[in-house]
Amino acid sequence: MSVEALLASPPTVERASSAALSGHVLVLNQDYQALTITSVQRAIILLLLQKAELIEAEEKRFVRSPNRRIPWPSIVRLKAYVRVPYKRVLLTRKNVIQRDAHRCQYCGASERITIDHVMPRSRGGKDTWTNLVAACVPCNNRKGNKTPEEAGMTLARRPFRPSYVMYIRDFVGSLDHSWKPYLYLS
Ligand SMILES: [Zn+2]
Repeated sequence: MSVEALLASPPTVERASSAALSGHVLVLNQDYQALTITSVQRAIILLLLQKAELIEAEEKRFVRSPNRRIPWPSIVRLKAYVRVPYKRVLLTRKNVIQRDAHRCQYCGASERITIDHVMPRSRGGKDTWTNLVAACVPCNNRKGNKTPEEAGMTLARRPFRPSYVMYIRDFVGSLDHSWKPYLYLS
């Protein structure tokens, strides 16, 4: 079985209890870059096939097999560099709001959040990662058909396309400490 096949369709990461998340393993590429998240089962196959090495295991937790105890993996690293197709984070209303941490990008409010087109749609503004931001209803109304400059409003930051790693990171939250250094959180 190829590494690519093993890494295909990673399990959905749920913002759930740590019990649910403990079933997930962070997979690093050969260069230690976070690549994806996989199941404990798939990670063990990678280890047994010697396609990956164990970087972090959970303490005092083991996976049983007929003739040995295998440490419960938390992070594994691929032994050979894999080139994976760029994973796109879907452009959805929910994901735009998540990228912007549920905050209005004009005033910082966290209530009545909606989506604003930085360049208004009526003036050719597109539905893109760089043209959509989270905004509260009052700011959205105030801005109307103007650009931020015309409305005298300032964006907290320039809207951007989130990377897959960032997407993983946002879902992982504070659950697995050992992953943090690899997700640029420490
Ligand atoms: Zn606002």
